[in-house]
Amino acid sequence: MRILVSGTGVAGLALAVELTARGHDVSLIERAPEFRTGGTPIDIRGDALGVVDRLGLLPRLRELSVDATESGVFVDADGTAVARVPAEQISDSDDDLEITRDDLARVLTDQLPSGTPVRYGDSVTALEEPDGGGRVDVGFLSGHRESFDLVLGADGLHSAVRHLTFGPESGHARHLGVYLGISKLPPEGAQVPSQFYNYPGLMAGIMRFKGEALAFFAFRSGWIDHDHHDLAAQKRILADAFAGHTEWEIPRLLDAVRRDPAFYFDAVSQIHLPVWHWGRTALVGDAAHCASPLSGRGTSLALTGAAFLAEALDRHPGDHTAAFEEYTARQRPYVDFAQASVEEGADVVVPATWETIHARNASVGGPEAPVESVR
Ligand SMILES: Cc1cc2nc3c(=O)[nH]c(=O)nc-3n(C[C@H](O)[C@H](O)[C@H](O)COP(=O)(O)OP(=O)(O)OC[C@H]3O[C@@H](n4cnc5c(N)ncnc54)[C@H](O)[C@@H]3O)c2cc1C
Repeated sequence: MRILVSGTGVAGLALAVELTARGHDVSLIERAPEFRTGGTPIDIRGDALGVVDRLGLLPRLRELSVDATESGVFVDADGTAVARVPAEQISDSDDDLEITRDDLARVLTDQLPSGTPVRYGDSVTALEEPDGGGRVDVGFLSGHRESFDLVLGADGLHSAVRHLTFGPESGHARHLGVYLGISKLPPEGAQVPSQFYNYPGLMAGIMRFKGEALAFFAFRSGWIDHDHHDLAAQKRILADAFAGHTEWEIPRLLDAVRRDPAFYFDAVSQIHLPVWHWGRTALVGDAAHCASPLSGRGTSLALTGAAFLAEALDRHPGDHTAAFEEYTARQRPYVDFAQASVEEGADVVVPATWETIHARNASVGGPEAPVESVR
């Protein structure tokens, strides 16, 4: 089949790998002007490990993995370590694989047959199924028009394909009351663990892995209406949330955000939809069922969803509706579990009061080794 995949995140790339391996003719489209990089290391867990194993990628991904046992410490306003980040409470099992999003995306991209078309800087703006629904006619922001047998929306939390098929995001999003911001810092080389500072309702941190360093911000807030593609607006929102905070490393970290052309900022929200397909269009990954970064399972869900959908299309040749239904039935239990797992996550990352910060620190235990200053 001729299949359009919208989005080149983990879900879109994994889908393209699974579908091209089965002989489908896949075109990818990505709204960003180029391959997107950045973000914290992400986890591959549970049955998603089986997915990457079947693709023959597990040994390479293990080689590239990040050591999850060195997850870091919580510090006070002076940078003194006051508690240990509980890595063992975050992992499901010792088999969990933690890897940078960039490494995973690159390994998946390397699996694509050469010449797989990827169009950057474009977005789906219209989907129509004329003449009894034998194909989907797709309109693009660029003015281009093309027909496909199937359209698969793997375009993330703010999916354009979902908007066109199921309506505005506000009808399906459940905001969990937290926002995240992430920027690259210059590599530090220092052998110090990741550090995280909390003030009621705020977290600022430095994540360190494989010689890289990231500025990490989280803050509690109700829904903030803004353009998700307006980088300057996102930087202003973050600066406002941390205005007046000069303690610890916050000014240096905010400075890195101001200078970062690839700042990552998003709401910690979930997407809840009763169905993930309509006609010849289906949703995969965060577009269908974002569980939020607090679940630590978004990437695993993207991988299982891509595999289940590709396998279902194989098992139901000529019957995409039966394939979409089988995909949904297999994927739904994983999604329900992941979406239900976030309940206490915000209280660990951004406790709302000094009392809950102290209670969190007491519950996770003290740091095992003193932390040197990184200034
Ligand atoms: C740059 C980046 C950094 C991230 N960092 C973190 C992190 O630090 N922690 C965390 O928990 N999660 C992070 N995520 C989200 C995490 O990758 C996903 O939750 C998970 O991997 C599921 O992947 P996905 O492919 O469904 O969604 P995503 O990874 O969000 O990928 C969706 C892709 O679709 C593209 N897209 C969006 N709109 C359109 C459109 N209209 N047309 C075409 N393409 C479109 C996006 O640019 C993106 O490349 C990040 C995502 C991105 C894109």
